[in-house]
Amino acid sequence: MATFSVEELKVQYHSRNSTVKAVDGVSFSLDDKESIGVVGESACGKSTLGLAIIRSSSGGKIVSGDILLDGKSIVNMTEVEFTKTMRWKEISMVFQGAMSSLDPVFPIKQQFKEILKTYDYNDNHIKTIENTIDLVGLDSSVLDKFPHELSGGMKQRVVIAMALLLRPKLMIADEPTTALDMLTQAQVLDIFKKLKKNTSIMLISHDLGIISEIADKVAIMYAGQIVEFGTLQEVYSNPKHPYTQALLRSVPKIKGKSEITSLKGNPPNLVSPPAGCRFYDRCPQAMEKCKKMPPMIKIKTGYTSCWLYE
Ligand code: SF4
Repeated sequence: MATFSVEELKVQYHSRNSTVKAVDGVSFSLDDKESIGVVGESACGKSTLGLAIIRSSSGGKIVSGDILLDGKSIVNMTEVEFTKTMRWKEISMVFQGAMSSLDPVFPIKQQFKEILKTYDYNDNHIKTIENTIDLVGLDSSVLDKFPHELSGGMKQRVVIAMALLLRPKLMIADEPTTALDMLTQAQVLDIFKKLKKNTSIMLISHDLGIISEIADKVAIMYAGQIVEFGTLQEVYSNPKHPYTQALLRSVPKIKGKSEITSLKGNPPNLVSPPAGCRFYDRCPQAMEKCKKMPPMIKIKTGYTSCWLYE
């Protein structure tokens, strides 16, 4: 049985004159300790999805659908209940640009202690913190340092350790390697590889290579919807949806000659998205029928929402 699932989730941003349908009917599920990569272009809704799961979206409102952890709905919990029982304890998040969220005026140890104090942890604080710092491959001496004394890679490891401090079942990581150089990226990815043995990871990225290092399953997002979902191997080796195919064609290959092709056009405006397939204007295989919204269709390699596989 899936231990974490998102069911027909819709998240919207409301302003006085418009409503942005940032996440529009997203569903997926994960088994225990399974990791997922959520991939898509900027503004496809992937960060909004992560923020909605941890209920930290500023301005984004869950208007329908459900999020279940171990069969328990977290959408209908009160804020107090969610904070007390879920946020950081069961589900945590490494936010985009989280390195800069460290408080410059306190040493790292103090910042860890604040989290434990918030959640009334009365056990051996120092041992818990040191064990967590060790999990991300840092020496406990960093605990006495201030953020400005650490490199970018060390700061990123500190924020990953903070997200792990209460040993959550699911850790969401939004573009956790974007601001790092290649070698530091590799070190952070190694940490994720070790962590995924004990924790489910939801890795949000536009980088297919990074996703391929960590994920067991992949969700391809386009214009607020998942257009293809399956295991990493199935989606990468045999992509079905024309958008997934285009994404994979845009990645340079190291071995052999291959032509990189870019995708022309732009995703639709999510204030008034088209009634039919949202990829219609950019799809080389679009047909008349695609003016109607395709359903999520079960295929051999997973699911896709494309009329070609009806
Ligand atoms: Fe292209 Fe039609 Fe499939 Fe959409 S439903 S991806 S327009 S073929």
